[in-house]
Amino acid sequence: MHPEQGSPFDVIIIGAGFAGLYGVHQAAKAGLNVLGLEAGEGVGGTWFWNRYPGARCDVESVDYSYSFDEDLQQSWAWTERFAAQPEILAYINHVADRFDLRRHYRFNQRVTAATFDDDAAVWTLRTESGHEFRSQFVVFATGCLSAPIKPNIPGIESFAGEELFTARWPEEGVGFAGKRVGVIGTGSSGIQVAPIIAREAEALTVFQRSANFSVPVPNRPWTDAEQSEIRATYRQRRENSYYAPAATPHRSLQTKALELTAEERARALEDRWNGGGVLFNKVFPDQNSDLAVNELVREFAVAKIRAKVDDPAVADDLIPYDHPIGTKRICTDSGYYEMFNRPNVSLVNLRREAIEEVTPTGIRTADRFIELDTLIYATGFDAMTGALLRIDLHGAHGARLGDLWADGPVTYLGFGIPGFPNMFSVNSVGTPSVMANMVLHSEQQLDWVLALVEHCRAQGIRKAVARAEAAATWTDHLVEVAEGTLFVKADSWYMGANIEGKKRVFMPYIGGFDNYRRYCDEERDNGYPSFELTA
Ligand code: NAP
Repeated sequence: MHPEQGSPFDVIIIGAGFAGLYGVHQAAKAGLNVLGLEAGEGVGGTWFWNRYPGARCDVESVDYSYSFDEDLQQSWAWTERFAAQPEILAYINHVADRFDLRRHYRFNQRVTAATFDDDAAVWTLRTESGHEFRSQFVVFATGCLSAPIKPNIPGIESFAGEELFTARWPEEGVGFAGKRVGVIGTGSSGIQVAPIIAREAEALTVFQRSANFSVPVPNRPWTDAEQSEIRATYRQRRENSYYAPAATPHRSLQTKALELTAEERARALEDRWNGGGVLFNKVFPDQNSDLAVNELVREFAVAKIRAKVDDPAVADDLIPYDHPIGTKRICTDSGYYEMFNRPNVSLVNLRREAIEEVTPTGIRTADRFIELDTLIYATGFDAMTGALLRIDLHGAHGARLGDLWADGPVTYLGFGIPGFPNMFSVNSVGTPSVMANMVLHSEQQLDWVLALVEHCRAQGIRKAVARAEAAATWTDHLVEVAEGTLFVKADSWYMGANIEGKKRVFMPYIGGFDNYRRYCDEERDNGYPSFELTA
């Protein structure tokens, strides 16, 4: 039967990234009639789209992988400590093949509208290509960093050279030899891509509006001995992650920074700096809540930057002064700061020298004109809410998500949105998501949602919708926890501050994956008291 006709699916899962694929697998295994819809032409989500050279995960490969299947976990051998995009994409493709998941998917189906029929308790999803799909339950596994933004710069459409987006990098790759290249944006993506381009391009100009902190990624191949050790202790490693603050086995020190001696602090900082990845944000338990401690960590990072950059004036431009360290996502790089010592690389500090316009042949700043053959946008995403709000989403009685969230997103545990029955959002606003290891987070999210779907089916429940009071309480709790930290001081995408007009509110749950998971367990174990369940 053609999926567009006949009875509605039990569940439609949108997205074929880590979360969506796992959800489709589990739903099919549970005997549900499941459909996956994916905007791209293949699986991989973030790792499908962000193919720019240098793209690499900042969580160790052996943690940033599925734990649900022991044979999979034992048989896949990650080659490097921090996996690069091609290896992660190969892994996701392997999982899709191994569990025969593609047969449940329709690719090249970007969902543009979704409407709930309250009487029939059925969702109708419409896609860009004009297809319609119906389902009792719908799960948006559409990613937190999947709605890329193009900056609003005068003349931007006039550029006649090559235009590239890190978040939409061409599959066939791009050559830069002999080219004058500009990169706009110095977040994680810009900081990873620039050093690779610098090696090949004739000239590279980095346009920096805000400086970011970046920790070098100490990447290397896993040794055979490490591989064997990881295999032998994998289960324990996962047990140590399931109820851990960041869903990895790593934790911050237990002792507050100022209770340590100066030598102990220095050693801890050096260890975590050398350990690499986002762990530098978790050296001391109080570094994200106590400004004095944060300043110690900041001073350490600043000294590292100064030591790497030959020209002190350039080093000064590369040091962030506008936010406590870690309150914007710490980047991870391979030779980013050192790159500025190359004769073919220059930095334009847009705070001193704003971009006035893009022309067909380059960029005019307040001070000069820079000729460019290639212009790369590493300008970020409408994070956490963007993917959902770009869909014309209507819940019960025509309620529009855009209206409900006009004053900021409201969810219960991230999953449930009042007025939007049988619809679940995962890895999104209201969850730890971007503060945790996304793969284990995805498993937790989909397990929880599918358990609720199973509960509904077993109990003859047609509609499940988060109660407004529960969502209001959870949303207040998110704010309260965030306000106890320094995170609210930064103009970050966590705060929605990179999007003009977006409500300034800290969107993820910062209280730890462990605590979050316990809230979710409690809700499930108590029979979903925060959901209105209608037979
Ligand atoms: P991002 O962190 O939001 O960085 C975007 C950059 O573009 C910022 O430097 C921003 O400046 C700049 N920008 C935006 N609009 C601009 C304009 N009109 N003019 C000049 N500059 C402009 O985005 P991202 O680098 O893609 O990273 C997003 C997140 O994805 C990361 O924080 C991370 O969570 C994830 N990620 C992770 C990895 C990894 O695992 N290693 C790699 C890539 C991405 P302002 O700061 O001034 O707004």
